[in-house]
Amino acid sequence: MKFIADKMVGRLCKWLRILGYDCIYFKEDKKIELIYSSLRDDRIILTRDSMLKKKKRLKLLFIKSQFIKEQIEQVVKDLKLEIDRDKLFSRCLICNKPVEKVKKESVKDRVPQYVYEMQESFSICKSCDKIYWKGTHWNKIIEDLKEIQKKNN
Ligand SMILES: [Zn+2]
Repeated sequence: MKFIADKMVGRLCKWLRILGYDCIYFKEDKKIELIYSSLRDDRIILTRDSMLKKKKRLKLLFIKSQFIKEQIEQVVKDLKLEIDRDKLFSRCLICNKPVEKVKKESVKDRVPQYVYEMQESFSICKSCDKIYWKGTHWNKIIEDLKEIQKKNN
């Protein structure tokens, strides 16, 4: 399942990437191009635009809430998304490309020393070169997601 998010739901797009889903962020206001991209790449449109909602035959999920937590809840529930721990942070949050696991030693000079000492597993985005590890925000995200899953079961 792939997504295209319009500019009204940019944070939701980032969250889908955290969950490991392919989501492109469409910043511009050109609806035709948004729709074209959705059809061409078989992407579900995520939007809060009520005009788009009226268009028939589009693969589209109208996002009801303006609050990010409720938005994630809605997507997970309505599309029955699986939250797979192994897939979390498997995709670059900046460029949406899958990241690759790398040897710890290879990032030694590129991360803060305390991070290097505390963490065992690192990934890198081959496209933008950003390094990912399961930092302090990790546990908070897991907790939030557990809460969302609980509500949906
Ligand atoms: Zn990247």
